[in-house]
Amino acid sequence: MMINIKDIKEDQVKKLTIDIGKEHFLDIDAKVSLINRVKGEINLFLEEKVCLQGKVVYTLSLPCSKCNKSFEEQFMVHIKEYYEESDSSKSSVKDIELNSKSIVTFPLTNGEIDLINVIRDYIITSIPIPIVCPICNESENQRR
Ligand SMILES: [Zn+2]
Repeated sequence: MMINIKDIKEDQVKKLTIDIGKEHFLDIDAKVSLINRVKGEINLFLEEKVCLQGKVVYTLSLPCSKCNKSFEEQFMVHIKEYYEESDSSKSSVKDIELNSKSIVTFPLTNGEIDLINVIRDYIITSIPIPIVCPICNESENQRR
């Protein structure tokens, strides 16, 4: 799912409805798998840079590291990223800067964002470490 940022104009929000099949995310983790589709909404608009903001909802099947049983958990992650067309005439070094809110600006080479890659990164980061199911988590808490 490629988004071209060149057709995003000022004072205009490009709304995208996310409804992506789990087959696009088979490579998130060897032991973790998606259940159902990834849904959500993403807005693209211009601030000083192109801003991609929204949320996605998905359910993961996670293997518990304590009892080895798989359990399902629903996640809702908020996405906020900035993109800037990188000027290839300046430098080939990736110009990734952190602003005060620690939001990374990603350089773009041909004005295109691969939305599936963006969402995949958020899913991978959302996988808890260690993975503990609610039952094991509960008995853990009772022991304390
Ligand atoms: Zn468990």
